[in-house]
Amino acid sequence: MQLLAGQLVTIDGMEFLTSALRVKDRNCLVAGSSDMAIQQALQLCSHGANVTLVGHPVSVPVNGNLVVEPRDFTADDLTGCWLVIAGCDNRDDNNTILQLCNAKQIFCYCPDDPQKSSWHHQSAAANTQEYTDTASPTEDAQDAGLVSLVGAGPGDPELLTLRALRLIQAADAIVYDRLVSEPILALCNPHAEFIYAGKEKANHTLPQDSINHLLTSLARKYSNVVRLKGGDPFIFGRGGEEIETLADQQIPFQVVPGITAASGCAAFAGIPLTHRDHAQSCVFVTGHLRNGEINLNWHQLTDPQQTIVVYMGLTGLDMICESLIHHGHAAHTPAALVQQGTQPQQRVLSSTLEGLPALVAQNNVTAPTLLIIGGVVSLRDKLAWFNPENQYQ
Ligand code: SAH
Repeated sequence: MQLLAGQLVTIDGMEFLTSALRVKDRNCLVAGSSDMAIQQALQLCSHGANVTLVGHPVSVPVNGNLVVEPRDFTADDLTGCWLVIAGCDNRDDNNTILQLCNAKQIFCYCPDDPQKSSWHHQSAAANTQEYTDTASPTEDAQDAGLVSLVGAGPGDPELLTLRALRLIQAADAIVYDRLVSEPILALCNPHAEFIYAGKEKANHTLPQDSINHLLTSLARKYSNVVRLKGGDPFIFGRGGEEIETLADQQIPFQVVPGITAASGCAAFAGIPLTHRDHAQSCVFVTGHLRNGEINLNWHQLTDPQQTIVVYMGLTGLDMICESLIHHGHAAHTPAALVQQGTQPQQRVLSSTLEGLPALVAQNNVTAPTLLIIGGVVSLRDKLAWFNPENQYQ
């Protein structure tokens, strides 16, 4: 940020003298857990301050310099502090903290009340124009916003986690995949910048490398960036690759798990993935074809007491069923294909390893689909419960 020390700037009608603080190894207090407070706590941490946050945040990314104490603020918290940020949701609480700091001659910034603040701390991604016309967007990774890699679940918006919902509602920018359903996009902050990152089988809208770098540049522009992915970001979601780039660039990130397609589709199809009589284990594999072949260790998939869940298995369905029979599975092993699981369009085609390819060929099946193989599939006859037509009853 191009800001010279010794300038007078006016913020909300109050004059502030610009200067530079050395916060490294100094104790700072953030009282309250508004999103802004958390953002600023992380920014102080990224400059080496020892920050204690007292409040009740729903989630805070792990940071070695940040200690979170889930309780209300008390006056004793000010002892030994160099700087304070009053970030409570309640104006009266912030006023109390501002007054206590004034009495103790501790600089205190309240994002909701710059007029009463004795110092001003602008979050990296906030609009720098407020200070000076010559300010340019920062290029410094240390000033970057927070990127949240968020799992959106299999499609039903009620299967979002509370944390996912909070983050998509507060996001400044949302990079989303094809698998993220419309009703979930409708819950996102409508003022956010939406970027479609695509991902259809042969038609990657943005190459993975570009997505990784896009997240980096958005983090330099915004405080809260959400990378929204179907299901769980760490299950066949390349979530690991995306945050590796962020880690390399020292950009703060967090990961929010989501309900993976296997859990969502199995539950909504009435197929328990494990069952004492049918399966003592369950394995998730990808049926993605590479050069026309499926690269799976078929010998490890022969246990009849194990449920096999195949992601991305529609194109290779015939080959998968054939290979499993070839490697020792009974041709009459129950198998089901769940299309658009958990959504109003959900459809389940249930058959056997031998019969499923023909059944799928006769029905006009479209992605996304999940393949579930094993004795547990037979339980569906009794346990199927989801009727998309009365789904909200
Ligand atoms: N990270 C995701 C998986 C991404 S791979 C997760 O944890 O669920 C994409 C594959 O997931 C699809 O090809 C399909 O096999 C499966 N899938 C995702 N959502 C699905 C849904 N609603 N119904 C059926 N299959 C789904």
